[in-house]
Amino acid sequence: MTEQKIRKDIIKFSKLLNKTNLSPLRSGNISVRYKNGFLITPSGMRYETLKSKDIVFVDLKGKYNSKKNKPSSEWHFHKDIYLNKKNANSVVHCHSKNALVLSCIRKKIPAFHYMVAVAGGVDIKCAKYATYGTSELSKNIIQVLNNRFACLIENHGQVVFSDGIDSAFELAQEVEHLSEQYLECLRIGKPKILTNIEMSRVLKKVKNYKK
Ligand code: 13P
Ligand code: ZN
Repeated sequence: MTEQKIRKDIIKFSKLLNKTNLSPLRSGNISVRYKNGFLITPSGMRYETLKSKDIVFVDLKGKYNSKKNKPSSEWHFHKDIYLNKKNANSVVHCHSKNALVLSCIRKKIPAFHYMVAVAGGVDIKCAKYATYGTSELSKNIIQVLNNRFACLIENHGQVVFSDGIDSAFELAQEVEHLSEQYLECLRIGKPKILTNIEMSRVLKKVKNYKK
């Protein structure tokens, strides 16, 4: 894919963060792997104002051109996901309401519904809190992304990665739906959790689900 097309895609999906209520105002960030690094949304800008030149290139050592826009403050965890996950081509981070609420009560999402498997395992874990934009936060995120494509982040929100920007965005939407459904269950009682045996059946099936 050309650099120009990637920049356009990042802007399109950044605007969708706001439009689909996945992340309000300036919150969240999106990147796509490119050459020896990645292209990422700039820090603190309103998504509707974004122009192609505003998207920032950061290499896998964390270097970027200091004369241009500042990259998202969360470039540390975007970089570490690309370094640790060979199959990651896009990372989406957002402050979606229900995922954020669960992250504030510091709860992971267990296998209350079989769709939890879309994140790669029997649960969606919650990364330990650290100040936003730090390499410590990145370490905490990488820890809970072992065999997973998504996690919550304590008192913050969620982050996902996938092989493309559209599938990463869809996975973030899926994590938000699951968070909403799990919170609804918690309101009326204690949901029954599916066994690991059942989830291993589901994990095999979901691999061939998407067309
Ligand atoms: P940036 O604007 O720096 O990407 O920050 C948004 C955010 O969600 C920080 O966690
Ligand atoms: Zn954030």
